[in-house]
Amino acid sequence: MPYAVRLHDERAAFLSLEALVWRDGPVCPHCQERSRVGRLSGLSSSIGTWKCYACRKPFTVRHGTIFQNSHVPLHVWLQGLYLLISSRQRLSSQKLGQILGVSVRTAWHLKGKIAAGVAASEDHATPFPREARPPIEIRAPLPEATSPPQPGQAVYRARYERFLHALDNLASPCSDIAFLDALNRLLSQPAQPAPRSPVSIGEQQLQLSLFDEPEEPLERQRLKDVSS
Ligand SMILES: [Zn+2]
Repeated sequence: MPYAVRLHDERAAFLSLEALVWRDGPVCPHCQERSRVGRLSGLSSSIGTWKCYACRKPFTVRHGTIFQNSHVPLHVWLQGLYLLISSRQRLSSQKLGQILGVSVRTAWHLKGKIAAGVAASEDHATPFPREARPPIEIRAPLPEATSPPQPGQAVYRARYERFLHALDNLASPCSDIAFLDALNRLLSQPAQPAPRSPVSIGEQQLQLSLFDEPEEPLERQRLKDVSS
């Protein structure tokens, strides 16, 4: 089914995002080639990888989106986005981490990046076009197990069960639409120029302090300039 959005595992998440982003088929983000591209499906290629035979570079649909340059699997990002949107971003990092099976720090990072992305897109992005809305399968039960089982399936299954359980009190058809709108807004944003997350000055200082003296936030420097 085209445009079905499924979040239960990594492959399904990639197929869903590809259908949303590449409405007219895959496009190489490096050279815009459309025809001489192919999916890499060997065991050594990570899920969702394509190769462009014009410029010889690999790419995925994450390229140029807020999901680029992240070690967090795509289905975890999308489940996190759904949980945050349906809870109106009131879920704590601790709870989010528990549901997604990631560290509190990773959950906090996801939260910050999603909040910043959604806020930044509020002015310019258009809502998901109503006529293009996919048949909603976002919260569908787990499909039958495939045989032979795919690698990582037990982890996917446990995570998706926690996700569905957490949504018992949160999700509604309205949150499906809100999720699709938020996803569309995030995807219509230009890519971040640097891989570093723009979450907060606090985290930047934390990272810097591992190697360097923490830098003063710009705002404080300005205040000092004014007062001196
Ligand atoms: Zn190319």
